[in-house]
Amino acid sequence: MRGLFLAHESTMSGRHVPVLVNEVVALAEGCHRIVDCTVGDGGHSARLLKPGKELLAIDRDSDAISIAKVTLGTGSIVWLNSSYADPKAHETIRQFRPDFVLFDLGVSSRQIDADSRGFSFRRDVPLDMRMAPGCGMSGADVLNTLDGDELARIFRDYADEPKSRRIANQILRRRKATPFVVSDDLVNAVRAALGPQTGPADFARIFQAVRIEVNGEIRALENTLPTVLEALVPSGIVAVISYHSVEDRVVKHQFREWSRACICPPHVPICTCRGRALGELMLRKPASPSEEEIASNPRARSARLRAFRKR
Ligand code: SAH
Repeated sequence: MRGLFLAHESTMSGRHVPVLVNEVVALAEGCHRIVDCTVGDGGHSARLLKPGKELLAIDRDSDAISIAKVTLGTGSIVWLNSSYADPKAHETIRQFRPDFVLFDLGVSSRQIDADSRGFSFRRDVPLDMRMAPGCGMSGADVLNTLDGDELARIFRDYADEPKSRRIANQILRRRKATPFVVSDDLVNAVRAALGPQTGPADFARIFQAVRIEVNGEIRALENTLPTVLEALVPSGIVAVISYHSVEDRVVKHQFREWSRACICPPHVPICTCRGRALGELMLRKPASPSEEEIASNPRARSARLRAFRKR
């Protein structure tokens, strides 16, 4: 499993360092109508937005929007504080008629480093994990209310955890006595389920799985990629940076599906669909950060960039 932000890697500077930024800028060369679905602190957009270009900047975190407004200043920018998966966002993306759409998935360093946001397993951090502060169920709500099957599914599907059932059972047992409130509650349950050698990488993986559930991250991506393809002008590009295998798999499968010329089911011996591919992959292999980039920004380590060009 890739994509774990370990506590000791905290930059504590509070600033998010954009990942694979030169590679993204190279892909967007010649594009003018750019959608940044995850604007964050505005790191990628600052490099993409040049005179004569227009930007639709989306983030579900209102703090991120405020910071990106400072980073990006005044340019030709439309701001949208919403999940990119909301119907309103889909409509805005369609009307924008973009030629380049970027997703830089997951959470920013600033979100991870702010204890009040509750993404981290550092001691005594509230189990919040909501990217849109105050909206929907928090991490604690998920851990205190979901049934055993649902909890086990989260750890199995989002953390590749073979002992998902054991962790779920620990949570059910412990929450009967005291509801889950802070990071230590989950850390202790995971340690009790997996044994004393359980280390930071395990906690990071399990916390990340809860975060993916809290924010509906996989569903959001699966629902939005088709809208983006529809919204793009001909020859428009969608680029996605993912940080763990579950989200990367969604992107890989979607792009592969779009690249297939024939969409007949596998058991049909002769092609009857006369299908044409919806476009082409722009990178034969996903791009990953150089050793140099990883050395200067360890959180880039797990990043994978995939891109698709619409026909
Ligand atoms: N590229 C940015 C960093 C992005 S970090 C930069 O260089 O500064 C990821 C951002 O995506 C976070 O701010 C998070 O709030 C946002 N995000 C994650 N899922 C989202 C969703 N479904 N809709 C909108 N924003 C989302």
